[in-house]
Amino acid sequence: MTVWIEIDLCNGCRRCLRACPYDAIEIKDKKAHILERCTSCGTCIEVCKEKAIKSDIKPREIPDFSDRKGVWVFAEQRDGTIHPVTFELLGKAQELADELNQDVSALLLGYNVSSIVEELFKYGADRVFLADDPLLKNYRTISFTNVIEGLINEYKPNIFLLGATHIGRDLAPRISRRVGTGLTADCTELSIDPDEGILLQTRPAFGGNVMATIACRYSRPQMATVRPGVMEARISPKKGHVIEVPVSFDENQIRSRILEVVKAEKKGVDLGSAKVIVAGGRGVGSQDGFKKIEELASILNGEVAGTRVAVEEGWIPQERQIGQTGQTVKPELYIACGISGAIQHRAGMMNSRYIIAINKDPSAPIFQVADWGIVGDLHEIVPEMIEQLKE
Ligand SMILES: Cc1cc2nc3c(=O)[nH]c(=O)nc-3n(C[C@H](O)[C@H](O)[C@H](O)COP(=O)(O)OP(=O)(O)OC[C@H]3O[C@@H](n4cnc5c(N)ncnc54)[C@H](O)[C@@H]3O)c2cc1C
Repeated sequence: MTVWIEIDLCNGCRRCLRACPYDAIEIKDKKAHILERCTSCGTCIEVCKEKAIKSDIKPREIPDFSDRKGVWVFAEQRDGTIHPVTFELLGKAQELADELNQDVSALLLGYNVSSIVEELFKYGADRVFLADDPLLKNYRTISFTNVIEGLINEYKPNIFLLGATHIGRDLAPRISRRVGTGLTADCTELSIDPDEGILLQTRPAFGGNVMATIACRYSRPQMATVRPGVMEARISPKKGHVIEVPVSFDENQIRSRILEVVKAEKKGVDLGSAKVIVAGGRGVGSQDGFKKIEELASILNGEVAGTRVAVEEGWIPQERQIGQTGQTVKPELYIACGISGAIQHRAGMMNSRYIIAINKDPSAPIFQVADWGIVGDLHEIVPEMIEQLKE
């Protein structure tokens, strides 16, 4: 199998260059050239508007998805309380739906939950699918999957978003398998491709060393989960309508029974709702060094957090780790002290409103996401900040 470029047709637009996952195209004299490392994957062929890229591979046809409309959000609730990630997803869903000129729908499943429908309208849902039934009182994979699979097959949404919570992470793969589509887990950014109108789903990949953007071209709905705290909720009340969804199966068709619900004691800190976070990394140097970080946090009425290194060194507990394998936060102010800004750490804090970074290395990557950068020794700067704030 070979891929080649009809030089006369190529206009040097670079779309193929950007699309090639193997870096196997170069532009020379304003024309694209295929390099030896090409694997004939065919990605470039699909993006070339000039049809200048030829191959003996049969291109895969993109099905007609013109009947797929709407951005859906799974409205996760427990005991009648909607999980905040639902509102965050509704915020993003409105943005995506506006670009596509489509509507936002929320899927609310549970028992005796009709009273909370209004909250979904308040945060931007145009329509709520409400399945209110004793069989849905507690979350069970099969019962929830059955209801949602039926809705997707009947109403054919374009995009379906779920929170990357315990429930979302269990439910999303089941649904995607049932309806025969892909799923991108733990996205940190979602946007619409301006040319193709498809969902671009960005998430950390290869151990967090790169941010990969994934598109689902050949199946619908385009499904993604998003971690809590990543997107922004916005109040934009809608005069929406409710579609009541009947439950058409019985208890015998659900393979699990809930015998007892044991509520785990809520432990640890909820960094997700902190307005100010002062975080430390390896540069803090010791547990003793964290005392100044704690003092600064306390003056600012904030919380202490840190990198994985700070956790591994035993300077802070694991529940205070920020990043890809820790918590995702979005405070008003994030002060990063002695933190290099590895991508795995940035994934958990880069959506903070304002970021101040203190680092003695002016080329530390944390400065790429910081609003204010202070180059210097944190052991001098943090005490100085404390002094000045006390004054
Ligand atoms: C799969 C995977 C998941 C991961 N998940 C996470 C995660 O969730 N969260 C996370 O944080 N990391 C995570 N990591 C680790 C991550 O890759 C980095 O190793 C880690 O974030 C680095 O922590 P650090 O910035 O504290 O340390 P370093 O990278 O060593 O940086 C220390 C910084 O402190 C500065 N410094 C030193 N002394 C001073 C001083 N006196 N004053 C000012 N600045 C000083 C240095 O210039 C340096 O920039 C993960 C890694 C992998 C592979």
